[in-house]
Amino acid sequence: EVLADQIAAGEVIERPASIVKELVENSIDANSHQIDIIVENSGLDSIRIIDDGDGIEPDDVLTAFKRHATSKISSRQDLFKVASLGFRGEALPSIASVSDVEMITSTGEDQGTEINIRGGAVIKHTVAAARQGTDILMKDLFFNTPARLKYLKSPQTELSQITDIIDRLALGNPAIAITFMHNGHEILRTAGNGNLQQVIAAIYGISNARQMVSFENEDADFKVNGYTALPAVTRASRQYITILINHRYIRNFQLTRSIVQGYGSKLMVGRYPISVINIELDPILVDVNVHPTKREVRISKEDQLGQLIASALQAAIKQENL
Ligand code: ADP
Ligand code: MG
Repeated sequence: EVLADQIAAGEVIERPASIVKELVENSIDANSHQIDIIVENSGLDSIRIIDDGDGIEPDDVLTAFKRHATSKISSRQDLFKVASLGFRGEALPSIASVSDVEMITSTGEDQGTEINIRGGAVIKHTVAAARQGTDILMKDLFFNTPARLKYLKSPQTELSQITDIIDRLALGNPAIAITFMHNGHEILRTAGNGNLQQVIAAIYGISNARQMVSFENEDADFKVNGYTALPAVTRASRQYITILINHRYIRNFQLTRSIVQGYGSKLMVGRYPISVINIELDPILVDVNVHPTKREVRISKEDQLGQLIASALQAAIKQENL
């Protein structure tokens, strides 16, 4: 069983950033309003996530660490959510099989629970006094699978991947207050007041009306809205473009191109805007048969959606330049 979890870990959690992603997504799914992420040494020393979400019932804590134990799949509506948010019930057991995990969790009623699992073995499992929410601390990543450690990149690379994941999660969830501390330094703090423009300002440092415009557009299948930088404020990389489907970060080559197309000749070759775009659609239009760790997602009627996006941006930028 531990071996199976370790094999799954090879797929689910390749690196510290994937652990951060899985744990923060769990906090988001648990209806948290505040999520604090505390990382030491790019996650190689520790990753701690504290949320004020629903918590886990005492009787369900061990189950949460069993493979394929998820409280989340049910309807077809959930399929996209599950597919994009990670594997079903694999994150916690995978992480606990290759590291040392301590969790304190409480639903806010009766007693909370404290559990410590190391290399898949339960070392401690007791009641604990706790406020509502979940506090999970992961240490000694890959201590029992040393070959995996070798695949990790430099601490700077691992940190930039963690930062990137947290940025996208914050952009997709402006109503959640998120803080990210690394080695005692604050990297990100969002207010959690639902204001996407403020989250963009916190991450990219652009905020004023001369730098960014809002846009929206809709047709029978799609609703798009977001903020995009004016042509004067561009970057040399596509990675400042964030595409969210129903508030979840995805990658899609064609839609990225549609955003660039919205700028027409105003954007120099090789330059990209800072853009955050949220697309609302029926999950049935999303191809869920893509590998869950790959964020590349295919969408039905992609050409139609691309047109909608390009014309929304074109209109917003044109109006601003008058
Ligand atoms: P999944 O998220 O796919 O269900 P996980 O292994 O990530 O699988 O988590 C297993 C279960 O543990 C979740 O379904 C959820 O019920 C519970 N859980 C995990 N993290 C949290 C959290 N921060 N707050 C509340 N419940 C959590
Ligand atoms: Mg999960």
